Amino acid sequence: MKPKDTNCNRRTFLKAAGWTGLGSLLTPLAGSKDAIGADMLAADNLPIAKLTFGRTGDHVAMLSLGGIFDIPNNQLLLKQAIRWGVTYWDTANSYMGGDSEKGIGKYFSRYPEDRKKIFLVTKSGAWTLKGMDRHLHRSLERMQTDTIDLFFVHAINDIGEMNDDIKRWSEKMKSEGKIRFIGFSTHSNMEECLADAPALGWIDGIMMTYNYRLMHTDSMRAAVDACTEAGIGLTAMKTQGGGQVRTHNETELKLAGRFVKKGFTNEQAKLKAVWENPQIAAICSQMPSLSLLSANVAAAANQTRLGAKDHRLLRQYAAETASSYCAGCTRICGAALQQEVPVGDVMRCLMYSRAYGDHERARAKFQDFGPAVHRRLASLDFTEAEHRCPQRLPIGKLMRQAIEELS
Ligand code: SF4
Repeated sequence: MKPKDTNCNRRTFLKAAGWTGLGSLLTPLAGSKDAIGADMLAADNLPIAKLTFGRTGDHVAMLSLGGIFDIPNNQLLLKQAIRWGVTYWDTANSYMGGDSEKGIGKYFSRYPEDRKKIFLVTKSGAWTLKGMDRHLHRSLERMQTDTIDLFFVHAINDIGEMNDDIKRWSEKMKSEGKIRFIGFSTHSNMEECLADAPALGWIDGIMMTYNYRLMHTDSMRAAVDACTEAGIGLTAMKTQGGGQVRTHNETELKLAGRFVKKGFTNEQAKLKAVWENPQIAAICSQMPSLSLLSANVAAAANQTRLGAKDHRLLRQYAAETASSYCAGCTRICGAALQQEVPVGDVMRCLMYSRAYGDHERARAKFQDFGPAVHRRLASLDFTEAEHRCPQRLPIGKLMRQAIEELS
């Protein structure tokens, strides 16, 4: 896949904005014409390139706006995202208890002409056709739109969850114009889900956990190759690889020094590591503030590539800190447990809380598991699972810490 020519002039943008100084462009949002960079906010200066999303033929912004934030009260951020060319929006029926979709609907009702600029994704975690049907119609209503561009079955663990009933349902919804494309999201057993998707023949797009820690394994490379060959559009999420590791790490310091010289941060470099794989059409990122949006837009617009040594150091850092990152391979630890517990989901709660600082989301998700799961987490023996875990995670200890921190 090659970047599509867009009307954005990335060089002009960077020259005027300054790669590291993009944050200063936030000031003029209040509308002052004299403020620094006000001209850059004009709609004809879009810095974000678009890539072809698999065989759909659609061209999507390489940076996608994740919808887990207070969208009803952050309408300005949506406007600014469009101005900067972040026109791929991702939400889900469940995000913010429905407020994410409602906020998008609020925006479209105010700026209906902007709907056609947006590649709109939403998801349903209902495990019945009836439930998916209900969710889709609710999403359409909430977002004040007639069609969803890409509809995901939310967070599958196994390709078997994409059954023939869903295939038939998606064909019906497509024929009625309610969705244009169908696919799934996954943050568990991603490699297997991706590798098995092409054989189904009807998956248009996938959003999966994918980052500098995971992208170099043989199984992930083969899975991404298979999807690319089958024309399945791919969006990467969780690209920070678990966020900041709170230990002193020499390699991380070395990386920070190298990246600062090149003009970007470690976080921006991790985005670039993913973007440099042309098989990935877009990165979906949660950007609840204008400063984060601008930092990611700057990373997308910046054309400096990571060098071989940068990639080598990132891989070295990933190896050195592997035991702080759950790779989502839940089929491995799950098979070693006497009873079913959502180890990968609990690890993700810990990541939201510890690495992202999003305690509220982490607690809410952990509470959703219910008291029976909490009791099992407290009593199960995780020794064998720990033995098999390729990341060498102290699973039992982390499960107990999750109970203490998130109950
Ligand atoms: S705990 Fe270990 S085995 Fe289980 S999903 Fe995480 S990395 Fe994989």
